[in-house]
Amino acid sequence: MGESSTAESRSMSDLERELRNNLEIVFEKVEKACERAGRKREEVKVLGASKGQSVEKIQIVHKLGIKLFGENYVQEAERKIALLKELPIEWHFIGRLQTNKVKKAIKLFHVIESVDRIELIDELEKRLLRQGIGQKVLIEVNIGRELSKGGVREEELEKLVERLSRSSSLEVCGLMCLPPWSEDPQKTRPYFQRMRKLFEYLKPIFGQSFTELSMGTSHDFEIAIEEGATIVRIGTLLFGSRT
Ligand SMILES: *Cc1c(COP(=O)(O)O)cnc(C)c1O
Repeated sequence: MGESSTAESRSMSDLERELRNNLEIVFEKVEKACERAGRKREEVKVLGASKGQSVEKIQIVHKLGIKLFGENYVQEAERKIALLKELPIEWHFIGRLQTNKVKKAIKLFHVIESVDRIELIDELEKRLLRQGIGQKVLIEVNIGRELSKGGVREEELEKLVERLSRSSSLEVCGLMCLPPWSEDPQKTRPYFQRMRKLFEYLKPIFGQSFTELSMGTSHDFEIAIEEGATIVRIGTLLFGSRT
């Protein structure tokens, strides 16, 4: 080992080394999945799913090259975003959004990925019009029709799309999903394929700005990339276990 690398490793904390290592693993897997699918690496963005992760970890991961972060709880996000306000982070909301948190959410997040019901759209519109601002959103689809999860069911999608297509303040940028968990990530593939179909079907309706397909977590993001994901949301594989 040369002198400079010794100096560098001395200045780097254990935490930083661990996160750098995690990120290398993630990036390598993303690259390989892109190759397998014949996709360009630039087509896929890695979002750090940072719920339950410290501000310090987010800071380090940002420095290492992640520009997108996703939070699930408005209150937790409010605190963290305030502490990290100097960093040029693009914040996404990826949790279930209650209507009584909408006012705060539109101030905090660049993209709300979990729009899934008319009532929420109405509340968003009301608040956005009042502020005279717009909001980028994704439609969350409950692709596995799970009672425990948010997202619009396919049979309700048409109605939601109709409502969104006449909204002036919401810019619909794509779709998001969190499919049923299974031990074998290959079992998730059909859900990702179905999402891709819905995405292609809706593209002409929303036009130019409809570009994002947010799907895949630590467990199954490689499959998601093979099936067309443009955003993969990685938590534990990137940051380690949540507190
Ligand atoms: C927590 C979470 C993730 C990340 O999950 P990991 O298994 O930690 O990678 C992705 N998407 C959503 C909606 C989440 O809530």
